[in-house]
Amino acid sequence: MTKVSPILLSLWICLVSTIHSNARSNESLKRPKLVVGIVVDQMRYDYLYRYYEKFGDGGFKRMLREGFNCRSHHYHYGNTSTGAGHASIYTGSTPAIHGVIGNNWYDPIAGISLNCVSDSLVQGVGGRNPSVGKASPRNLLVSTITDQLRIATNFQSKTISIALKDRGAILPGGHTAQAAYWYDGYTGNWITSTYYMTQLPQWVQDFNALKLPSKYLRQGWNTLLPLEQYTESTEDDQPYEQPMPGNERPVFPYVLAGQAGDAFGLAAVTPVGNTLTREMAIAAIKGENLGKGKYPDFLALSFSAPDGIGHRHGPNSIEIQDTYLRLDQELSQLFTFLDEWVGKDEYLVFLSADHGVIDVPEFSQKHRLPSSRFSADSIYTQIRNVIAREFGDEKLVKAIEIRQIYLDKKRLRAKGITVDDVLEVLREEILPVNGVAEIFNTRKLGETTLTEYQRNLFANEIHPKRSGDLMIIFQPGWITKTSFGTTHGSPYHYDTHVPFILFGWGVRPGETYRRTYISDITPTLAAILQILPPGGNIGNVIEEALTSN
Ligand code: ZN
Ligand code: ZN
Repeated sequence: MTKVSPILLSLWICLVSTIHSNARSNESLKRPKLVVGIVVDQMRYDYLYRYYEKFGDGGFKRMLREGFNCRSHHYHYGNTSTGAGHASIYTGSTPAIHGVIGNNWYDPIAGISLNCVSDSLVQGVGGRNPSVGKASPRNLLVSTITDQLRIATNFQSKTISIALKDRGAILPGGHTAQAAYWYDGYTGNWITSTYYMTQLPQWVQDFNALKLPSKYLRQGWNTLLPLEQYTESTEDDQPYEQPMPGNERPVFPYVLAGQAGDAFGLAAVTPVGNTLTREMAIAAIKGENLGKGKYPDFLALSFSAPDGIGHRHGPNSIEIQDTYLRLDQELSQLFTFLDEWVGKDEYLVFLSADHGVIDVPEFSQKHRLPSSRFSADSIYTQIRNVIAREFGDEKLVKAIEIRQIYLDKKRLRAKGITVDDVLEVLREEILPVNGVAEIFNTRKLGETTLTEYQRNLFANEIHPKRSGDLMIIFQPGWITKTSFGTTHGSPYHYDTHVPFILFGWGVRPGETYRRTYISDITPTLAAILQILPPGGNIGNVIEEALTSN
């Protein structure tokens, strides 16, 4: 046996005692008891300030006062849509890696169009029939921060995810959530799929039995404040707003109950949807006893209704202002509940959005700003016609979706045509069309006229297996919604600039104007939680937001 020298022995004892004292300090490892992620669907950054003076004290203002505010927080890719946004927030990654390149996309390998959360292998649970709710996170190619927390705690922490929209609930929950719940607009019930369970838990059945959608829709929608106090918004009645079913004009007060057809669906286009989401969130915290265990739990919430309202009425409408004044109250009630349930300063909250939105074109035009509508379908038809005419083959284009052109490459090769040959023809004939800004080869970003900033946005978006061969970009201010309201989906600031506020446990109050990105959210949460960020993460910790817990 080797003889141990006294010096080595004392070093060894010293090392062991250091390990022991570290182990003792690790016993007091501190983490928040509950993380609440809040995504507000279509919330543009400027709303925080536009409506600031009309907000109460306990919602957005409390977050700004007690939390850390990233004032120049942006999406880092071009196709700013709901599916891509939720996936990017929770993976800290980007469509080029996590694979959710839009709400729907064409799968060039399978030759079909699919929805980002559609899954034919599962059944819906709790809806009007099992074909409603066939959805899961299977198309998401990487893990989420919610997955990482589950892994880090040996699956002893819980993740529950809630949104009216299926994709707003499913993608944030990741692959390992106990449950994601979304809303069936036909029955007014919260539902899930067999990916998570075969029967709704009793607390969800009880919550559905309350029939809250009927109760709230019966109350209609009137403004929170007297109408004349909405001085931050345009007059109520505008021809470009989309009328609500059963209401002749787009004006307050709205009658919501007793409408023909999909009446409960009206929750998704009125603040009723936000109230239902907040109440479901509190029911979930109580039903699952979140925030009371040894390990941090995660509640992922997405308020989907602001998107539906924004699309119909636009960002300068009284409808949107009223939606945010009411959402402010929902947040205030949620925080008050969390103060009591988990304990003040014992929980961590973040708030962001899945994309912004552009002003309604007619509103911009009225104020002499460049903006217009045009039909994506008519541009797509022109593209198909030009290619068919030039190359004598109607089948060269397999699909055109989300501004991406998928070519049949075998057919091209057989005819001795390259993707760049097609591009050259399109740049000659389609680029001159009003509203089209550029067309480029998605595999040759370096050869485009795009600025470096834009090239980065598209490099982050183009997925080698899921994206098309050519991509079209539209001009700033131009939208492809042909009638009423507005939309999002562009690489421009109105769609990329969203709020990011951290608030609560482990957060140092303050703010930064430094450019931060959506992909910085999960590494920052991972730093606070002392866990690994998701594998696809490309962002950085926002260090200045953290205390030294
Ligand atoms: Zn959205
Ligand atoms: Zn939208």
